[in-house]
Amino acid sequence: MSAEPIAFIDLQAQRRRLGARLDEAVLSAINEANFILGRQVAEFERALESFCGAKHAIGCGNGTDAIALCLMALNLRPGDAVLVPSFTFASTAEVVAWLGASPVFVDIEDETYTLDPAGLEQGIAAAKTANLIPRALISVDLFGQPADYDPIEAFCAHHGLTLICDAAQGLGASYQGRLVGSVGTFTTTSFFPSKPLGCYGDGGAILTDDERHAELLRSLHVHGRGTDKYDNVRIGVNSRLDTLQAAVLLEKLAVFPEEIAMRDRVAGRYQDGLADVVSVPRIRQRCTSVWAQFTIRVAASHRAAIVADLKAKGIPTAIYYPKPLHRQTAYRHYPCAGNGLPVSDRVADEVLSLPMHPDLDAKTQDVVIAAVRECVSKA
Ligand SMILES: *Cc1c(COP(=O)(O)O)cnc(C)c1O
Repeated sequence: MSAEPIAFIDLQAQRRRLGARLDEAVLSAINEANFILGRQVAEFERALESFCGAKHAIGCGNGTDAIALCLMALNLRPGDAVLVPSFTFASTAEVVAWLGASPVFVDIEDETYTLDPAGLEQGIAAAKTANLIPRALISVDLFGQPADYDPIEAFCAHHGLTLICDAAQGLGASYQGRLVGSVGTFTTTSFFPSKPLGCYGDGGAILTDDERHAELLRSLHVHGRGTDKYDNVRIGVNSRLDTLQAAVLLEKLAVFPEEIAMRDRVAGRYQDGLADVVSVPRIRQRCTSVWAQFTIRVAASHRAAIVADLKAKGIPTAIYYPKPLHRQTAYRHYPCAGNGLPVSDRVADEVLSLPMHPDLDAKTQDVVIAAVRECVSKA
């Protein structure tokens, strides 16, 4: 067993691997002293555009603001509804409520944890029953795997909904040959340190191919400015990607393709080592995941004991997410599609995420795999 404690996400190991190039990037940003919207921000936006194959990237303060800004660009208002999965991080629904509109919760697929296209019609019906106007749908690339975009896009087109792809966990993945960031009207992402592409603080970005929306977003995220900085043409917010974070991100994006391959190897070793004893993730045909999490499923009645056993063996785990949003105090009064969301309810009781990061070496991972096998068979 390794002397170091096993990390759930080892940012120190990544930092060691990046070495002096990161020191130099941060130091030159400090020396240049253009802390707000310095050259690194524009450089990173252009680099992100080419990485994702999107026409426009707009940096912003975090992944939550990124979604909120898209909804502001759509002029979302009270009385409007946005279809969102219930099994996700709170941001996805929070921003809808924040603008006075109403999230309508829909269910996910049992095997991929992303939106179930078959349940979306019921979401529209639930919105209409509540006298709401369905305006948009936010899909989530949960745990790093893109949502099932073909049927979701067709559904959105049929109902005139704007598709916003919340790719806080999915940046760098692909859906049947299409890169995440090139699907939907908007793609949003987060650079929170633990995301696949993380910075050293908060950060986020929006990707879009639409020139008009891009222009609007560039105004909205800096107080609604017009062509002159002190002539505000609309009500906006202050949500900028920090120059220092952009400097970090330029270095991290340069090695991101390599890290995605490393993540894939880690996921492959988990699949090989665990598939015969627990339920392991399933990735759709001709799709890739960036493995924001490696999430297994165990019997609900045994999960707490398995977590405790693993902890006693020095294996950190996490539960994303223990309670679907439609069951949470802040959200339970919003409409749900159909007769409840049975898949969201079930998976919330069964999921368990294992240590996952590009620098997880085979030896350490063998320790994790052996511990999981032992704890699961005992339970
Ligand atoms: C992390 C995350 C967000 C929010 O990103 P922040 O940068 O923390 O605001 C939104 N959606 C999903 C699915 C996330 O995982």
